[in-house]
Amino acid sequence: MTDVPAPQPLMLFNSLTRQLEEFQPVHPGEARVYSCGPTVYNYPHIGNMRAYVFADTLGRTLSFKGYKLTHVINITDVGHLTDDADAGEDKMEKMAAEKAQSIWDIARHYTEAYWADVKALNIRQPAHWSIATDYVPQMIEFAKAIADKHCYELEGGLYFDTSTVSDYGALARAKTDEGEGRIDEVEGKRHAADFAIWRRTPAGETRQMEWDSPWGRGAPGWHLECSVMSEALLGFPFDIHTGGIDHREIHHPNEIAQNQAHSCSDASGARIWMHNNFLIERSGKMSKSAGEFLRLQLLIDKGYHPLAYRLMCLQAHYRSELEFSWEGLGAALTRLKRMYKAVAVRMWEEFQQKGDPIDAPSQYEPIARDKWHEREVLGYLQDFDEAVSDDLNTPKALVVIEAILGDPTISDRLRWHLIATIDQVLGLDLLQRKRTDLRIRPKAATITEEEIEAALTRRKEARAAKDFATSDKLRDELTAAGVEVMDGDPLGWDWRLEA
Ligand code: AMP
Ligand code: ZN
Repeated sequence: MTDVPAPQPLMLFNSLTRQLEEFQPVHPGEARVYSCGPTVYNYPHIGNMRAYVFADTLGRTLSFKGYKLTHVINITDVGHLTDDADAGEDKMEKMAAEKAQSIWDIARHYTEAYWADVKALNIRQPAHWSIATDYVPQMIEFAKAIADKHCYELEGGLYFDTSTVSDYGALARAKTDEGEGRIDEVEGKRHAADFAIWRRTPAGETRQMEWDSPWGRGAPGWHLECSVMSEALLGFPFDIHTGGIDHREIHHPNEIAQNQAHSCSDASGARIWMHNNFLIERSGKMSKSAGEFLRLQLLIDKGYHPLAYRLMCLQAHYRSELEFSWEGLGAALTRLKRMYKAVAVRMWEEFQQKGDPIDAPSQYEPIARDKWHEREVLGYLQDFDEAVSDDLNTPKALVVIEAILGDPTISDRLRWHLIATIDQVLGLDLLQRKRTDLRIRPKAATITEEEIEAALTRRKEARAAKDFATSDKLRDELTAAGVEVMDGDPLGWDWRLEA
């Protein structure tokens, strides 16, 4: 029997040190992760969702490596201004005024929309969804604790003096361009990078969301919520803090400054800070206002299964920019279909050989890590472990899955166990769903699934009778209705409705 192999150390890129570092938990056997969540003033675009596919992959990897995971994602329903550098209006107040609705209704609607995307993308539920407005009293306490030593008051409220902590902005490493280049919109600020801890409601105005505080009635600054909620739910310090790369420049340096002030130390709050790179459009930055608003629902309306987008994200390393294109999404869908098909074809072959009902692959359990060495497929498990342990190298991990699906030398029972093990991290539901589940009817389609199936049956009969004229005519009719027919599929399933 082979010896139990040493586990691969989990190496993660820490934005603080700009280096790969081995994950060493604060609490042995546990992993505590905080991810900056959405500001629920609008639907998330698919770029935002890339940040959560990444956080989910990180969480799944930590579970796969045997850590007990506690993941927190916050919901920002107060405080985030239209400009991250503390200028402009509150995004929530602005949207509520535009729509003439209450902020609470706006928050509920867009939180639910975000949760629907989370579910569709197979992102696991975190242990806590922390809602910013639930923590305002704690934010006020936090602010009170740092106010004397680190803050000053202006007409607009309480501001954090970034010169009172050591090495402000080290995370961004862009003090010259970013900090000093930032437009100093608030009169009286001591340094351009100083930021609001509490925003006092201007005299004569009321806000929909406001609370009493020692600095007057008002609302908390955006950065405060993450310092407060991460400590309340994960302790101080905790293991990993994630967010999109834009947060490396302002939001996270400000969180770190608050944490240093509050803990009277140089501790940043999290041991490792991780940032996903952006999903971009050929035309530039993805935005909710410019051009076609790329929501997950738009992809679905055009006939793309959400898991194709999940796969598209996994095909790129999280630290690389990823350019969105419909062709790229189509290619990811085809790749996913091939994977599902490989599972289905193998089941079909097994059925042909046995002639009786076969076990559904979905019932196969993952192989426990302490049993890996007893299996002859140890090499695959190690290759996969090596890939994800190398700063979540999902592009490489996907190649391992495909090798397993195509390997003629292993038994199907073992194959399903292997895939069940690996798909815990990838979350592609390879054993749970059928390829036909990937078929989504585009909103604009005029033909029904039944009509397609009926036309395909008639076409098959025509071909069997060597009536090629009828067969070609049926195919042309299907093409005209937006149905692409792929011949040569042993399971006879393959057609796709174009949007
Ligand atoms: P927001 O709702 O604007 O606070 O953003 C939610 C998350 O999405 C944050 O972690 C952002 O850093 C991240 N994010 C924003 N735009 C993109 C993008 N185009 N690609 C990837 N992540 C993004
Ligand atoms: Zn945050």
